[in-house]
Amino acid sequence: MSFKDVLGQDRQIEIIKRAIENNRIPHAYLFLGEEGVGKRRTALTLAKALNCWAEPADSCDECGSCRKIINGNHPDVTVVEPEGNSIKINQIREIQRVLKYKPYEGKKKVCIIPNAEKMNLAAANSILKTLEEPSPDIVLILITTSPHLVLSTINSRCQKLKFQPLTNDLISKIIKEKLGKDEDASLKIASLASGSLNRAYELSEGTTLEYRNRLIEKISALSPNNINETFEFAEEMSKEREELVGTLQFLKAWFRDILIFKENCPLGRLINIDFLEEIKRLSGRFTTTDLLGKLRIINDAELALLRNSNKRLTLEVMLGELCQ
Ligand SMILES: [Zn+2]
Repeated sequence: MSFKDVLGQDRQIEIIKRAIENNRIPHAYLFLGEEGVGKRRTALTLAKALNCWAEPADSCDECGSCRKIINGNHPDVTVVEPEGNSIKINQIREIQRVLKYKPYEGKKKVCIIPNAEKMNLAAANSILKTLEEPSPDIVLILITTSPHLVLSTINSRCQKLKFQPLTNDLISKIIKEKLGKDEDASLKIASLASGSLNRAYELSEGTTLEYRNRLIEKISALSPNNINETFEFAEEMSKEREELVGTLQFLKAWFRDILIFKENCPLGRLINIDFLEEIKRLSGRFTTTDLLGKLRIINDAELALLRNSNKRLTLEVMLGELCQ
């Protein structure tokens, strides 16, 4: 995979390529943007491009260096994944120990930290030391969907690159080409994916669309008079999906759609256009203030979950407030 295979991020790729060509790669990047828009793909391509034997500012995917990075066994390229729910200080100390030495066989040592917001405070303070004393042989690439959860002192020491959500046209084209879906299905998946290719792939599996249908049905049926049903639903939700981010995105898209309909915005902006009748019905039931409040409630739950609060309790509180 070379830079041309990172789709929909032309400006960001141009900035990176120019930096490599001019030998002005910053010692630390912070890639930010939604899940599934190409941040990790870009980080790995950059790690390959900085060490490739064949291409001066790209990755050839063929040489020994590129192949080792693809296989995850290049001695100069490290990816630090969370252990459990967080990235811990011993993991950061381990990479700092490795980063102390000159590149072993490559040109640059590259350390990629996806989910950088999951560094606990001790880990974050420790990585700060590496950022404060940069070495010319090292490139750190921090990746996050939630830059506000990354220490501001880290934020300010990295060159930030914001990755844009992919357009519906691009997602639908990729789904059509890669998965052989027909035009209608591809467009529907793209409209529900909110700019994320990962979500589009998930949605293509079928069970995710069924899950959304059931979610809409349930959320529309919740009532403050039946609190037991709300608790049961919270339990079901917390067990059903490992990652709740997608579920909360569905809920946000749902209330956003009702708001869009209520405010007489063009119907083309609706995500769940296949539920138009239900959207229409509910737009009469809620005021604009109600709907904005519900979107805020979901955002608050999303933030709480990112901060590792109790999943079930957070969902209970969220659903309880949503059905008021
Ligand atoms: Zn190569």
